[in-house]
Parts: sequence; structure tokens; C-alpha cells
Amino acid sequence: MKSTMQDAPLLIRDIIRHGESIYADKKIFTVTPQGVDEATFFEVSKRSERLAAALRRLGVGPGDRVATFMWNNQAHMEAYLAVPSMGAVLHTLNIRLFAEQLAFIINHAEDQVIIVDSTLIPLLAKVRDQIPSVRHIIVHGPDESGVLGETIDYESFVMSEPAGFEWPDLDERDAAIMCYTSGTTGNPKGVVYSHRSMWLHSLASTTANSIAMCEKDRCLLIVPMFHVNAWGAAYTSFLAGTELIMPQMFLQGEPIVKMIAQLRPTISLGVPTIWNDVLRAAADAPDADFSSLRGILAGGAAVPRVMIETFRDRYDVDVFQGWGMTETSPLAAVSIPPSGTPIDQEIDFRVKAGRVVAGVQVRVVAEDGTVLPNDGKTVGEFEIRGPWITGAYFGVDDPDKFRDGWLRTGDIGTLDGLGFMVISDRTKDVIKSGGEWISSVELESTMMAHPAVFEAAVVAVPDDKWTERPLCCVVLRPGMSATPEELRDFLAQRVAKWWLPERWTFVESIPKTSVGKFDKKVLRAQYADGALDVVVIG
Ligand code: ADP
Repeated sequence: MKSTMQDAPLLIRDIIRHGESIYADKKIFTVTPQGVDEATFFEVSKRSERLAAALRRLGVGPGDRVATFMWNNQAHMEAYLAVPSMGAVLHTLNIRLFAEQLAFIINHAEDQVIIVDSTLIPLLAKVRDQIPSVRHIIVHGPDESGVLGETIDYESFVMSEPAGFEWPDLDERDAAIMCYTSGTTGNPKGVVYSHRSMWLHSLASTTANSIAMCEKDRCLLIVPMFHVNAWGAAYTSFLAGTELIMPQMFLQGEPIVKMIAQLRPTISLGVPTIWNDVLRAAADAPDADFSSLRGILAGGAAVPRVMIETFRDRYDVDVFQGWGMTETSPLAAVSIPPSGTPIDQEIDFRVKAGRVVAGVQVRVVAEDGTVLPNDGKTVGEFEIRGPWITGAYFGVDDPDKFRDGWLRTGDIGTLDGLGFMVISDRTKDVIKSGGEWISSVELESTMMAHPAVFEAAVVAVPDDKWTERPLCCVVLRPGMSATPEELRDFLAQRVAKWWLPERWTFVESIPKTSVGKFDKKVLRAQYADGALDVVVIG
């Protein structure tokens, strides 16, 4: 028997329509060197119609790729709304990729148009002569350099057409956005999100069991819009009436602390390395005021316990940890403590990667594919499936990443009966010492609780006796000191004895990936090249 419900496709254009009418006066704030620009949802929506009309006149047709090479700002939001809704595909380019990778993904996606922030022109100029598919470059902001050849001025382009573009009827399974993985190993791979997957993912972000983004919220969007759809927040904002604060290039602790005090967000999204820097800057800022924040979503890498405690104890801010990846849109798990958890035990849930969000399914499997129990103890690789989880990569076969309709995440850890995931490592970062796994994630989290430690990364290095052993790389806080012996003693009280690293190195900073996570590949290479000053103890 069939139901009698109406059938309507889940299209991004209807997210725009909802936001521009129901939440017309809500605002998008963009932080600029001069101050803060503001525009209402209604204004941004009308400008997105003009942008779509202008792109159509330029020759952009259904399925064509329009790329963005931009900071988080209002114009980027306009492209997020216009490009998919006109039937084209928005390809968000990571501004921190190496030139070869950038050229590779532009060519692989066959981008025809790129919208670029003028401050990023020098980076795009490095690949301009290697990207033959790109017919037009539209520059947002003043372009006086001329290094990109002939360009189109974004503002005149948008204003060249009237508002009132008729959003077409599309299939909800049509491509809306594409984003490439950061290519930690090998070339980046493209993930193509549909209108339907973005809709469902946005809805999931509004539920109270995830981050509950709603009309009362104002979200400081630190996570870049070029990386996994800014964790979905751009569309969720129009769907839920959540205002957005776009920080552009002001991503260091000091300006963020000021932004929070001045623009008073209720929620903010970013990776742990940014939050660590925010806490550092806040400690030195007498006017730091986080009282507007109901919570922050930290994810993309393990969130150290001490960070969650500091936000709670010093600023009364809850940290929600989220887990996901480019392939999962990304939100798949959020660590909200279950009801009835005593206050003093909430932290034990917040340190977990997340609790599985309704709509996706997660399982843990052994290397041979056997499904393992959800007992919170048995360690295996996470596999995931659901309507916003990718079923393939764009234009390449990668059979090793999929098994019976499940995505193999490459993350290792445990799942408990309540759906809480604990990540102990990524397959490529595991430390296998004498046949047993040592969790680099747990060692790092524990090490960062030491008062003298600003950042700590632990990587596997070859060892004659044990095959692999952990190397602990430490960045000390300015003006603080600690010896490897002291740090090892600190760990000795908190982790198993056989986990304790013998090899220690103090560095000025931990190398970071293009999305701000610890770059362990670089650390391992530095160790192999003898570039690190390593002390061996114990
Ligand atoms: P990249 O592969 O460049 O890091 P992604 O953003 O897609 O790009 O990264 C996804 C990965 O980030 C996950 O597979 C996982 O290893 C890690 N990750 C994401 N969230 C968490 C978390 N809360 N705890 C630990 N690791 C996480």
C-alpha cells in the first residue's frame, strides 16, 4: 500500500525560500579589517538570485562546476545559495592546499568558473596557467594586481542582473556541492553532496540530540566554508533562522576572543587547535567575555579533556564534541551526555568523539570484516552508512573504502550500547608496539593536561625491539619549562606503563594540515630525516 503523502523534492532552493521569508530579518555578519558588515537573510537571498542570473548569463548551465576560493564571508554564503539552486555545482576549494593539489582538484572537477576573494589572488595565481577548464574568474574585492589576467568584478557582476531569478525544479539527488578530502595520503578525492543529503544533514543539525541550531542562535563560524560545507552550518542557518558571524581571515585566538565579546554568538564551530589558541588568548585578555555562548562544537580531531574542563570551569561553556569526515557531510555523531548523567560525570561523555546521530548507522568491524560487539571495549574500524554518507568518490574507484554499502572510515575505536564512539586512532596513525595498540589520541589528550604543555602530538616511530614506539612532540607554553622526565612522570600516573614514550622532542609548533589538524605525516617524516632533536629516556 502506498501512502497518501505529497512528494516534494528536498531542494536547497526551498531552504533559501524558508530562510528569506520566515527569518527575513536575521543577519549574516562579516568581520572585515574596517569593522563588521551586516546583511539580512532577505538581502543575502536577493543577492543570491542576482548572482545566479549573472552566472546564467555568463553561460553556467546545469551541472557545471562553479568553484569558490574564499574565506567565510557573506559573498561565499551567496555562492552557497545561488550555485546549487540554479542547478550548477558548488565546488569549495581549500585555500590552504599546495599549488599542485589545488590544480589537481580544479582540473579533476573541471571547474569552469572560480569566485575568489581578492586577498587570495596570489595563491590562485600560482596555478592560473595550469587550469584550462576555468573560463572565468570572478574577484570579490578590489583586484589591482592583474596577475590573474582578465577577471570579473564580483560586486558589479551581482548588481548587473535584477533579483527575481526563478529557481528551477531539480531532482533532489542532483549534485549540489562538492568537496575534496584533504589528501592526507595520496591525491585528494572528491565527495559530491546532493540537495537531498544537504537537506537531511541540515535537519539533523537542528535536532536537540545534536547541536540544536535554532532561531535563538547566533553562530560564529570558524570552521572554513571550504571544508566539508562548514560542517553544514551555512544551510542550517537558513533552515533554522540561526544568524552567522563570518570571521574571514581573523582566525587567531586574539581576534576571536574580541569577536565573541563584541558580536555575542551563542554557539561556535571549530577544530580543537583553534579552541586551544582561543583559550590561550583569553587567559591574557582581561575583557574576554564568553557569557553569550551556550556551547561550542569542537570536532574534526580529538578534543582534549583539559580543554573541555577549562571551558566549563573558567567560562561556563559546554563543549560538544562532534565526529565526522568529508565523506559524511560531516556530522555523524555528537557527544551530548545522556539524561540522568550526574554533572560531575558529564565530562566522561564529552571526551568521547560523539553519539551516533539519528539517520546514520555506525558499526565496528575487525580487519577480516567481522562485525564486533558494541560493548565499549572491543576495538575495530568504524564503518558507517546513511543518506548523507558518500557511497563513492567522484570519478575514481576506491573499492577498499567501501564494504557491502558501508563506508570504511579508517578510524579505529570502540562503540558502546548507547551509541557513543571513542576514537583511539586513525589506521594510518596507529602505534603498534609489540603487537598491541597504543592510542596516540589518548596520550596526546593526557599530555595536554600538563600545565606547561600547550600542544602535544604523538606519532609512531620504528623501534628495533617493539617494531614501533611512540614519540611525543611537545610545544611548551611561553615562559614555562618541563623536562621529558617530568612529563613522563605525569603520564605515568595516568596511562599504562608500557604506553610511556621513551622518545621526546620539544618543538616550536606542531605542523598542521590544511584544515588545522596535527600533521602527523610531516612529524614522522621529520623524525625519519633526523630533523627533530630527540631525547631518549626511561
Ligand atoms: P582529513 O582526512 O584531512 O583530516 P576530514 O576532515 O575528512 O579530513 O577528517 C576526518 C577525520 O578526522 C576522521 O576520519 C577522524 O580521524 C578525524 N576526526 C573527526 N572528528 C574527530 C573526533 N571528534 N575525534 C577524533 N578524531 C576525529
